[in-house]
Amino acid sequence: MNYKISKFITNLIYKCTQQPINILIAELSTTGSLSRDQLWKYKTTKMYEQIRYLNRYNKVYKDIFTNLDIDLQKKNIDTEFYKLPITNKEYYHVNVHASYDDKTKTDMRSTSGTTGTPFVFPKDRVAACYMDAMMYNAYSWHGIGIGDKQARLWGRAINTKEKLIQSVKDLVLNRKRLSAFEMNENDCLKYYDKLMRFKPKYFYTYSNALYQFAVSLEKNNRDGKLLGVSIAICTGEVLFTHQREKIAEVFGCRVVNEYGSTENGIIAFECEHGKMHVMPTIHLEIENPDENGMGQIVVTELNSRMLPFMRYKNGDIGKLLIDKCACKRPFDIIEIHEGRIDDYIRCPDGRLVYDAILAYTLKGYAIQFKAYQESLTRLRIQLIPNEGYDKKAETRLKKTLARYLGDEMEIYLLQVKEIPHEKSGKFRYFVSNL
Ligand SMILES: [Zn+2]
Repeated sequence: MNYKISKFITNLIYKCTQQPINILIAELSTTGSLSRDQLWKYKTTKMYEQIRYLNRYNKVYKDIFTNLDIDLQKKNIDTEFYKLPITNKEYYHVNVHASYDDKTKTDMRSTSGTTGTPFVFPKDRVAACYMDAMMYNAYSWHGIGIGDKQARLWGRAINTKEKLIQSVKDLVLNRKRLSAFEMNENDCLKYYDKLMRFKPKYFYTYSNALYQFAVSLEKNNRDGKLLGVSIAICTGEVLFTHQREKIAEVFGCRVVNEYGSTENGIIAFECEHGKMHVMPTIHLEIENPDENGMGQIVVTELNSRMLPFMRYKNGDIGKLLIDKCACKRPFDIIEIHEGRIDDYIRCPDGRLVYDAILAYTLKGYAIQFKAYQESLTRLRIQLIPNEGYDKKAETRLKKTLARYLGDEMEIYLLQVKEIPHEKSGKFRYFVSNL
């Protein structure tokens, strides 16, 4: 599709759903030329609005503010803000059903369960629109606009209905989706042919998946540069230096790192000068930093309302740097340490299958799970089942997994009541002993 048509349809959808995307993009683009003090003022004004909104519409938060003696009238809300408790996913599981008086339009969203537990939460339209606007704004640093052709090396829905919705979305948004779950050499060559016809402007991809794609093309003497991709946006996991170099070499493109989540959208994004900047829609703190400044990342999404991600500890570790950047934007610079490192399941037939397949497949069956690859032919999965999980569901689940991992993989499903966390406190849903 021509990018102008996709841009037109996308803008029309925003208009019909009353989301002022272009106004928000304009607002966010002005933040790039603010001074550090002006940016802080912009952010604290947002914090103030968020707290006042919750005080008005949310009974649970009203009580929290009263108990903490938060001064809602005081203008220096930044000091009041740090009285608020640090939260996490479990905290919002409890508070998510808190009663709202407001009838703001809300959509439900869900993480794919990459930490082993799908997290379902409401996202009001304004917050969602800010997330999109921030994305387009950050992408524009690298010359990417609404409607530009995207090659998406990513997860693919498992069930038919979700697949259909995904296909329509991809068509409208001018994306070509290539399943990161099926990446043997034959698949990669097919993807190459598809992309030669599609001619994407940029990649949006899991870092590992694009690296694997690059290696496959090189091995099979395909010229990645002929695809004409100018930017590869890598996200979802740590982007290692050797991966970055290989991707840049094979595709002849610039490699850009994105750090974000389904909950909060983009948290930090790499600029033209290679620094990871914290987005103006996010206030980021580091909790209990060690002597090197590394600590737990705590995020406040400044425009969230229906589920206020305030001082939200997302499980990642990083540090704020005091460097200045040549791009002159006033945004903080961050270094992420051991973000979500994903892995591959090794199949008996020699294939490597991206472990996110487990999260996508088990989503409908389990509240939480953890999988262990004990040998090349044996995968043991502990799961806390959803309501309605029975023998039939178990058979269905095994069949779906066999489709991706091959019939030779023995899959053992074990129902449990609890799944312990790693010693580090982080949760990994896939552990390989190979
Ligand atoms: Zn910069």
